[in-house]
Amino acid sequence: IKGKVFSFYSFYDNDLRNSLMLEKKIENEITTALKEKQLEVHIQPKVNMKTGQIIGGEALVRWNHPHDGYLYPNLYIPVLEKSGYIVDVDIYVWTEVFQFLQKLIERGVTPLPISLNVSRLHEYQKDFVEVLCCLSREYKIPPNLITLEITESALAEDSTFLFQCMGKLQEKGFSFSMDDFGSGYSSMNMLKDEPLDEVKIDRLFLRNLGNSKSRTVIRHIIFMLAELGIDMIAEGVETKEQEQFLLECGCYKAQGYLYYKPMPLVDFEKLL
Ligand code: C2E
Ligand code: CA
Ligand code: CA
Ligand code: CA
Repeated sequence: IKGKVFSFYSFYDNDLRNSLMLEKKIENEITTALKEKQLEVHIQPKVNMKTGQIIGGEALVRWNHPHDGYLYPNLYIPVLEKSGYIVDVDIYVWTEVFQFLQKLIERGVTPLPISLNVSRLHEYQKDFVEVLCCLSREYKIPPNLITLEITESALAEDSTFLFQCMGKLQEKGFSFSMDDFGSGYSSMNMLKDEPLDEVKIDRLFLRNLGNSKSRTVIRHIIFMLAELGIDMIAEGVETKEQEQFLLECGCYKAQGYLYYKPMPLVDFEKLL
């Protein structure tokens, strides 16, 4: 038994050391990654489930690392949030998207609205509003083509500054979406108090549709959002059964592997 405990701890120790090394590595390399444009933006289309039509997309960052290949955000975003670099990554991604939209317009392609992820650290960025307004001016992109996704948990922090920024940006024409709705602390009050244009229903809700209680919960969430007049989109739709259930409840928009995976900008453009 003693041996077992010992090996467990040494295993744990190794894990901890590895994760600390990984953190250091990410922090050391992110600046180069930004400078050398190793970060790429992919877009996952959003669809209207009734018609199959693409109605927009969400920009998701990918790190094309010279040695380690494509790295997915869940690995490094938490590290970048801790060190603050996530703010630079957000701005990098936003800039790429504004540039992309500008190119589409120049080529005569009708652009679709794109959602951008906003890290919770933007609650503390004095120039949050200014950065987005500058980008919209510089690339001549009407703000109504941009939706800003703020996670439920960031909104739950009840930051006056963040709510002020949201108000100012909405006045300019930007929209706001509550990301990962239902994944964290209860957000019912925010639905009633904060001017949200859209709610993204977390894919957690779609997991147990075989269970009648789960179905009741999601059905009523959809009814409630509809009655509040808040637009909604379901994320992580992977099966026809999920699609059919959502349609029956009255949720018509979705994003998920059933339709499209995130793809490079050139591929997204081909779909337009
Ligand atoms: P998120 O904002 O909830 O983004 C949706 C994630 O779900 C994406 O993972 C997407 O690839 C994945 N997904 C989409 N459809 C399905 C599906 O049908 N099934 C499953 N299992 N997954 C699906 P991704 O790209 O790995 O991003 C993970 C998270 O990283 C994002 O979650 C977001 O919180 C964060 N993130 C990504 N890009 C950025 C960024 O540019 N800035 C910030 N601040 N965060 C980002
Ligand atoms: Ca998102
Ligand atoms: Ca989400
Ligand atoms: Ca999520």
